[in-house]
Amino acid sequence: MEILHVAAECFPVAKVGGLGDVVGALPKYQARAGHFVKVIIPMYRTRFLYENQWELVHEGGQHIGPYHFHYSIIKEKTNKLGFDMYLLDIHGLLDREKVYGYQDDTERFLAFQVAVCDWLNKWQHKTDVVHCHDHHTGLIPFFMKYALEFRQKLSDIPTVFTIHNAQYQGWMSWDKYYLLPPFDTWKWGMLDWDNMINPLAAGIKSAWRVTTVSHSYLDELKSNANGLEKLFEYEKGKSTGILNGIDTQIWNPETDSLIVSNYNEEIVTEGKLKNKKELAGHFGLDPQKPIISFIGRLVGEKGADLLPDAISHALYQYNGDINFLVLGSGEPHLEHTLHEMKHRFSGFYNSYIGYHEPLSHLIYAGSDFLLMPSRVEPCGLNQMYALRYGTIPMVRSVGGLKDTVKDMGEWQGFGIRFHQPSVWDISYSVGRALDLYYNRKEQFDWMKKFSMQIDHSWDKSAQQYIDLYKSLKS
Ligand code: ADP
Repeated sequence: MEILHVAAECFPVAKVGGLGDVVGALPKYQARAGHFVKVIIPMYRTRFLYENQWELVHEGGQHIGPYHFHYSIIKEKTNKLGFDMYLLDIHGLLDREKVYGYQDDTERFLAFQVAVCDWLNKWQHKTDVVHCHDHHTGLIPFFMKYALEFRQKLSDIPTVFTIHNAQYQGWMSWDKYYLLPPFDTWKWGMLDWDNMINPLAAGIKSAWRVTTVSHSYLDELKSNANGLEKLFEYEKGKSTGILNGIDTQIWNPETDSLIVSNYNEEIVTEGKLKNKKELAGHFGLDPQKPIISFIGRLVGEKGADLLPDAISHALYQYNGDINFLVLGSGEPHLEHTLHEMKHRFSGFYNSYIGYHEPLSHLIYAGSDFLLMPSRVEPCGLNQMYALRYGTIPMVRSVGGLKDTVKDMGEWQGFGIRFHQPSVWDISYSVGRALDLYYNRKEQFDWMKKFSMQIDHSWDKSAQQYIDLYKSLKS
């Protein structure tokens, strides 16, 4: 099959979070299974752009409302990523340092989506499927079906829309209506939710099929979807949950060049200890005690606001028999608090505030436990990386965390689960972790070995997407 993925991120070209990981890995696994896979994202000014060879494959002109723009599409020359990687540039609009966070993000991603449709419209053949990811691409299924310029050629191409995070919906006011390409006006309701143009809702309504990145998340969205609950309930017939996987080539403790000592399940205890010593040395922590880490965006969704109280509480309650380490960036007040705490709990707690991909690998390898007290977790990749590196996940039972982590109290359980995103639940789980670490070494060693052997690779899920695409072919 020929598959075109459209997204805002793709690792290693541009990554902000899990979306980037998924769009960098799923296409690779689909290509390996014999499909012809293309990925297109905006051209940002990232390192990958400057360090690789590109060829110009298409140029065109389009407009958003009265504003005309010229766009160009370049393709990575060597098929380095295992699939065809395309970048779409709109000079002055997309070619910036950061992926998101600009005042004109609405216009940026709108222009990107219009340009992608324009490019597709110029193809000599029809691709088998267009797979769009998250709200930045949610208008594409709508444009393909209803925009006057595109519908004739594109409306019969199947579209799949995957929701990686329904908290962000790309809302824009109806004042911006004039920026959209002309479309069947009686279809305006497909764009609308609560009197706003809602690209996420438009994607859900217009795409041929909708997927979410875990089964539990799909269920939860019917009661908690930042205002879209009724829509998820209504569209359940065309929606499926397909669990994300991880790129086991990049995330492999046996070959990972970003960690200090490579290891496999045979030597997991020794291997992890060497990485732990490096990590503890660097952050002034005690390698004799367990290291419990947090990696992620410092936002309420991830339960990051609970960390300051939970960490201080656990350090007092368990007499400092633990180390805590935080790697993350996000809300400024949380960044500030989590930074300042290092002085108060020096020797027991430390943090790196910012984004640091290599450090994240060392933390997965050198920690004993990874804490994820998420309020919402569509799939979560961190717990799967942790398991792959023999690090025991301590997770709140929600979304994808529920689908991928089995509590150690169950038969062949390999993690710690708790129910509420609360200081009390986290503290209780820390107690369970300490008991495992200090008093039940044998079970702890078995859990590390066992978790490393769990297959979270993309093989199965990539095939589930292929089966879904095939079901759409007439
Ligand atoms: P999200 O909701 O943020 O996308 P996921 O669990 O799906 O959460 O994916 C998070 C990804 O981002 C993982 O690869 C994780 O290691 C990475 N990550 C998050 N924060 C940081 C950071 N500060 N430094 C390095 N990597 C990070």
